[in-house]
Amino acid sequence: MYKKLNILDEKDKHLRQVSVEATLPLSKEYKKIIKHIIKELTYSQIEEYEKKYDLRPGMGLAFPQLGINERIIVIVHEVEEGVFDEYVVINPKIISNSTEMIATEAGEGCLSVNREVEGHVKRYARVTVEGYDEDGNKIRIRAREELSIAFQHEIDHLNGILFYDRIDKNHKFYTEDEIRLI
Ligand code: ZN
Repeated sequence: MYKKLNILDEKDKHLRQVSVEATLPLSKEYKKIIKHIIKELTYSQIEEYEKKYDLRPGMGLAFPQLGINERIIVIVHEVEEGVFDEYVVINPKIISNSTEMIATEAGEGCLSVNREVEGHVKRYARVTVEGYDEDGNKIRIRAREELSIAFQHEIDHLNGILFYDRIDKNHKFYTEDEIRLI
């Protein structure tokens, strides 16, 4: 039997809090939670398991979404069919970004937002993220395109920001002339 994560809904107050830095190295309990998140994000992107366990597809999750307001994010990125890169970053910081901005044409989704929200979310096309792995080693990741968006989305969660906060109410959709849509 697979036990699903209990992902909080956007209405929960944990989603709006600024999270504190996590203490390193992580406890066994936190490492276990991270394994569970990786498993669920991976399953959610494989059709067979997505259906079997009734999961919503998602590539990232931040600890506040589980009610733990500590700065830990997990991303599972499908680089080609059935091949996944896993990222676990503790206390992540964006240390540099491109000037070029992008948005996903279809808008963004979030495992804590159980409704459709229309509009483009402007994001940096490329970011460099620094942080620590689970054992406290310093890591640096260069991300581009949808992976860059995922990092920005998850780091926003650590600051109590949800993706739709970044949608311009007076200009919900951009044209290709204004921003590169991916
Ligand atoms: Zn989210």
